[in-house]
Amino acid sequence: MRRTREVLRVSNFRYQSKFKYNPEDPFGHMQEEFPDESEFDVVIIGGGPNGLIAAAYLARAGLSVVVCERRFEVGGGLATEENLFPCYASNPHVLYHMMVDYMPAIQDFDLDGPALTWIKPNAQTGMVFEDGSSVMLARQVQDTKDSFLKHSQKDANTFGKVVREWRGIVDEILAPATYIPPMAPIEITMAMEKTAIGRRMLELGEASPLEIITTTFENDRIRTLMLYAACMWGLDPNESGLGFMVPLMLDRTMNKCYCYGGSHKFAGALARQVVKNGGLILEAAGVDSILIENGRAAGVRLAHEGRVLRAKAVMSTLDPQTTFVDLVGSDNLPDSLRNDVEGWEWDKWSFNTLHIAANDAPQYACDDPWIDKCFATIIGIESVDRLLAHWENVSAGRIDPANFGGHSTCESLFDPTLSDRPGKYVSMFQIHAPYALEGGWLDHREEIQAAMLAEWRRAAPNLGPESIVSLSMEDPEEIEIRFPQMRRGSIKHGDYGPLQMGCFRPNQDCSGTDTPIEGLYTCGASTYPGGLVLGGPGYLGANRVADDLGVARWWKPTPKMERYIKTYLED
Ligand SMILES: Cc1cc2nc3c(=O)[nH]c(=O)nc-3n(C[C@H](O)[C@H](O)[C@H](O)COP(=O)(O)OP(=O)(O)OC[C@H]3O[C@@H](n4cnc5c(N)ncnc54)[C@H](O)[C@@H]3O)c2cc1C
Repeated sequence: MRRTREVLRVSNFRYQSKFKYNPEDPFGHMQEEFPDESEFDVVIIGGGPNGLIAAAYLARAGLSVVVCERRFEVGGGLATEENLFPCYASNPHVLYHMMVDYMPAIQDFDLDGPALTWIKPNAQTGMVFEDGSSVMLARQVQDTKDSFLKHSQKDANTFGKVVREWRGIVDEILAPATYIPPMAPIEITMAMEKTAIGRRMLELGEASPLEIITTTFENDRIRTLMLYAACMWGLDPNESGLGFMVPLMLDRTMNKCYCYGGSHKFAGALARQVVKNGGLILEAAGVDSILIENGRAAGVRLAHEGRVLRAKAVMSTLDPQTTFVDLVGSDNLPDSLRNDVEGWEWDKWSFNTLHIAANDAPQYACDDPWIDKCFATIIGIESVDRLLAHWENVSAGRIDPANFGGHSTCESLFDPTLSDRPGKYVSMFQIHAPYALEGGWLDHREEIQAAMLAEWRRAAPNLGPESIVSLSMEDPEEIEIRFPQMRRGSIKHGDYGPLQMGCFRPNQDCSGTDTPIEGLYTCGASTYPGGLVLGGPGYLGANRVADDLGVARWWKPTPKMERYIKTYLED
């Protein structure tokens, strides 16, 4: 084939093509579209929520943007898949969307309305106990108080008071701060000293989640529910320093949303914004190296094909080890960055998830019919002591069949589109689990699956063998196989500990999304503000790259961010 160098203009990309169309070569035309070497303003590695958000903002700002996604479709954790049987879809990863109320991308791209429907159940998180009693967190404060009242009048009253304080901390400080670049601890202290609610937040920061919960509530069952909710995403119950996140976790546990049609619809809606604004999405396009030229990131090379995409800015949404060691190469790193990457800690626990299609939605044997309607129902955990013992086991690589538990959701109750076949109720039961299970997952999978099914049935006796049509389980090793950037099953690309949060995520040099390597940015779950679908890293990365490339931001901070900036960041 005769090769020439020419520049093609398609939409607003500049393709540097080496190929010339040859009618005798049936693949020649495709090669025009996918040349050996092409040029963009921005290359984004990874088409998860953060990659798509960054791409959508920057494409709409007029930059030529390409998203490289290793899998066959974009979405990353925003996955809705037929993982049980054909025609039975479930959400194997992101199911609970915690920041829909605050995420700028949802407001800026108008993704709460006709484009995307968010279900906001009132009954949010329930917990059932072996003796048939239950307790529940609802969106409506009064409904939670009514549920607490069964266990403790004092706790019901306390909840009414503290929930207002938590709401204030979240609404005024933590939620808007999620979308504003990180500050050093001393700057945070000075800013928070300006208001009473800021000072209260600082006080909470000194305590551990366990201390906060046990000093606030007296009843052990209420404490168990609150501690589970505070730590389910990976806060260490005994560690002080991140106590200010307890109100955030609890408030968000009461305000989770479900994405109607499945989480992948959110990815689809974001991808449409990328493409509509002239961006390019390449699927089955894993990146195997970041090109470093004269100490600067100059583009990426795609695995398998060897194609090179050159760019002024390279944004990686992958974990620090993949970005810096595997793609950039240790030799290209300053010593301090190399040391930080080597010391990066993976999530303290992962998830093991059992998915089922059944003829029935789980009906829990308990005193409150609302529990069956809860978005998440915690089962198998009887007390604070047993919960702590379960987490200690998990941290030590064990799951004790006599003491474990987790949260379950019947997705079909909120989303009948997942299946209309016999056995149409798609549900899941998810437990915290170690990546390095003692004895190995391969040898213990079946035993753990059987134990989970037995526990689920004990809590919801209608899930008998005759009801279940199909089941499948995803263990932490499989999470890593599916998503190599979730190393050791790290769903947040790295642990939530005081030295890996705020301006330390992933380290002080990179938490603002730029890095010591000029032209290279990090904006995935391992960068401030962190993992889960917060949409923060992608948004902050877009802000930074737009500024560095000198393009005007078409977006403005949300009104809540503006209020936060005015109150806390301006003199
Ligand atoms: C079992 C499970 C349950 C979860 N539940 C929830 C939940 O309910 N709520 C919630 O908010 N979060 C949940 N999470 C966490 C959430 O999925 C992640 O924290 C979030 O998706 C991170 O977004 P991201 O865009 O930073 O990265 P990711 O979503 O991890 O996306 C990164 C993308 O990069 C791609 N990629 C990897 N390597 C390469 C490469 N070399 N080249 C190109 N592309 C590459 C991947 O295929 C992926 O698409 C869950 C995760 C798991 C595993």
